[in-house]
Amino acid sequence: MDNKFPGKDISNEDIKTKFPLCAKKHENHKSSFEVSGVKFGSDNLVIFAGPNMVESREMILDVAKNVKKIGADFIRGGAFKPLTFPYRSEKYNETREKGIEWLKEAKEKYNIPVITEVMEEKYIPLVSEVADIIQIGSRNMQNFPFISKCAKTKKPIMLKRHYGASLRDWLGAAEYILYEGNEKVILCERGVSVPHTHRSTSRFLMDLQVIPAAQEITHLPIVSDPSHATFWRKWVRPMALASAAAGADGIMLEVHPDPENSAVDPLQPIDYAEFENLAKEIKLISKNIYNR
Ligand code: PEP
Ligand code: MN
Repeated sequence: MDNKFPGKDISNEDIKTKFPLCAKKHENHKSSFEVSGVKFGSDNLVIFAGPNMVESREMILDVAKNVKKIGADFIRGGAFKPLTFPYRSEKYNETREKGIEWLKEAKEKYNIPVITEVMEEKYIPLVSEVADIIQIGSRNMQNFPFISKCAKTKKPIMLKRHYGASLRDWLGAAEYILYEGNEKVILCERGVSVPHTHRSTSRFLMDLQVIPAAQEITHLPIVSDPSHATFWRKWVRPMALASAAAGADGIMLEVHPDPENSAVDPLQPIDYAEFENLAKEIKLISKNIYNR
């Protein structure tokens, strides 16, 4: 059968019947929308920065102040956290409802929009009151009843790719959100898991190639998260720059005031000074290559 995308697991038929809402209607079709004053689409590259976890009120206020000053468009940070294992370090203190309250305070005080994860259905109303973008984490990517409920809030949604999901699976999950009439959907690549990445210094492999591959098929913006993808702070800069060069519509970075003492995944965040340099370099690339 004639296939526009030979070598991929996506067929022309899939595009028509499995994800018609995600699929581009013509070659240059690209979603363009605003979230709390920030433009998503072909003429802007969006930067999300913040810690893995909202650790305390003081910490999140300090991060909001600094990342805003440096030029982040959104502050990120989980109050509700998916952890791979049930055991927690002494520093780990999931702040949950309090964390959401502190994010609200940080957002209002420093005038910066918030992206944060919701993991359970019962917290959708609370999280959507404060979040400008609701994050659906990689682990929930195919929890269809849950993502449909998130979609019904009509809040913008970032759908992180599960680390074992094909592009076809990922777009199928995004289609569930669009199917509910929610058009503000942002995809986020955060690394895939393949056997040779099974080392403690790099749990995942950044799938840079999925950026152009997704853009060939869908009009949705695609963000890259090199922090989760590399799990290793020294590799965040090269992969962030490569993502910008590959045409990502946004970059999500873990930024912590004291990275080595991050309560979660201390190997991956960068500090404010590193973020400042990197944000400048990312903007240089996107301005020079893509004029945005
Ligand atoms: C996160 O962004 O904090 C997170 C847990 O990401 P992921 O779902 O990609 O692991
Ligand atoms: Mn994380």
